[in-house]
Amino acid sequence: MTVQELDETYRILVASPEVAPFAKTGGLADVAGSLPKALAAMGNDVRVVMPRYRGITDVRTIGDFPVWVGWRKVTAILREGVIRARLNGAEKLVPVYFIDNYHYFDRDNMYMYFDEAERFAFFSRAILEMIRHLGWAPHIIHCNDWQTGPVPLLLREQYSHDPLYQGIATVFTVHNLQYQGNYPRETLHLLGLGDEYFTPERVEFYGDVSFMKAGILYADVINTVSKTYAKEIQTPEYGQRMEGVLRARSKDLHGIMNGLNYHEFNPETDARIYRNYGLGNIEDKKENKYALQRDMNLPSSTAPLLGVVSRLVDQKGLDLIADVMDEMMDMDLQFVLLGTGDPHYENLFRSLRQRHPDKIAVEIGFNVVLAQRIYAGCDMFLMPSRFEPGGLGQLIAMRYGTIPIVRGTGGLADTVTNYELERQVGNGFTFAEYSADALLDAMRRAIEVYRDRRRWTALVENAMRHDFSWNRSAAEYMGLYGIARNKLEAVPVPA
Ligand code: ADP
Repeated sequence: MTVQELDETYRILVASPEVAPFAKTGGLADVAGSLPKALAAMGNDVRVVMPRYRGITDVRTIGDFPVWVGWRKVTAILREGVIRARLNGAEKLVPVYFIDNYHYFDRDNMYMYFDEAERFAFFSRAILEMIRHLGWAPHIIHCNDWQTGPVPLLLREQYSHDPLYQGIATVFTVHNLQYQGNYPRETLHLLGLGDEYFTPERVEFYGDVSFMKAGILYADVINTVSKTYAKEIQTPEYGQRMEGVLRARSKDLHGIMNGLNYHEFNPETDARIYRNYGLGNIEDKKENKYALQRDMNLPSSTAPLLGVVSRLVDQKGLDLIADVMDEMMDMDLQFVLLGTGDPHYENLFRSLRQRHPDKIAVEIGFNVVLAQRIYAGCDMFLMPSRFEPGGLGQLIAMRYGTIPIVRGTGGLADTVTNYELERQVGNGFTFAEYSADALLDAMRRAIEVYRDRRRWTALVENAMRHDFSWNRSAAEYMGLYGIARNKLEAVPVPA
């Protein structure tokens, strides 16, 4: 398929703390790696900026420049790599700028250090200084999550007197409101801001300075990664105390569902799975099931195989799965889980595996190959999340013909529609209440349909036919960029 070039294209700088394939801890990296490719394919001049963490090697050095962090002058080394995209059949290279500083980023891990506020205050200011250094001013800086939250604030308050910066509009995307980057009051000084910013109308947040709040308040336009989550986070239940701030900006708050990289996640070509298959030969999917059962030491069986691939954290509804485990073990099914995270959940699933070795397989760790084999080999995929901003797991599962069983919240509500037996429409099974009973009921409904082979195959085809590729999401982002630019024109730059 050829992608049409748009009438209006932009210079876009996507700023993110993580970008696949260079560095990844979650779905944000997939988005920050895939969206630029789709935007480039539409003819935009899109570039990406991220920190250069230890282990990122395929880069060349293109310069250095000073960055103020509070009263200290620090040097940013600028390096460059590429993401490869395609434009009408030809290869197009998306430049990726890496902000490098030995002290801040040459460490074992990406996050969770004592000086996190300082590291990302540096990163945020370095992004703006980089624009001067390159002499390349984008139309849009697209910021992602709290690590880039200060960018819209600093741009508006400290750079807008400079003509180079006056045409830049900002978009701030919230990928997960739970991680807010809240730090003590002194952090203001690291950002080069005075005490007058420490008010509820500005960046003070429950006694701290909040990087996330800075992004939400000062960006021209804000969005989250699904329409339902954009609504949910304006309520106390999902707002993580930020609901008031978000409500105050509700006119500028949008929701755009994440897309999935359909080249990487393609059961017809994925080299990581045991046997490739597609809509034309769905029967071959079951070879993946038998191979997965073998690899995970489960007995070979035609009973439904239910899978989980997830960070093991409270958000993901794992306590519900644990609560229904006794009932599950009374049913004719098998269960496989891959995940890592909270030791409480790791131990819980390990001990369940020990109790039911003939029905449960568990792998604790981060394993991209096994993840794909689970998506391909299972019949059903469980995602009973407490909240879910967008969610990629359910999209990957559907692409591989594995039927999602999800709680209808956030991006799960926007992508999974409940299967109706009478009308035979839908692509998965959903439930609303965050309760073990509701999850169990959804599983029972799924297993009932599974027993009817003809219906089940139709359902699998339904799920595989859905298009969650980036094309549509990227077009929506183009619309959002247009809105941001119009807003910028409407707001006079302060003298
Ligand atoms: P989140 O960003 O909250 O972790 P998403 O569903 O948006 O959740 O994205 C999670 C991504 O990380 C998916 O691509 C999923 O397959 C992958 N993933 C999660 N845990 C693991 C793991 N233990 N091993 C391999 N991949 C994983």
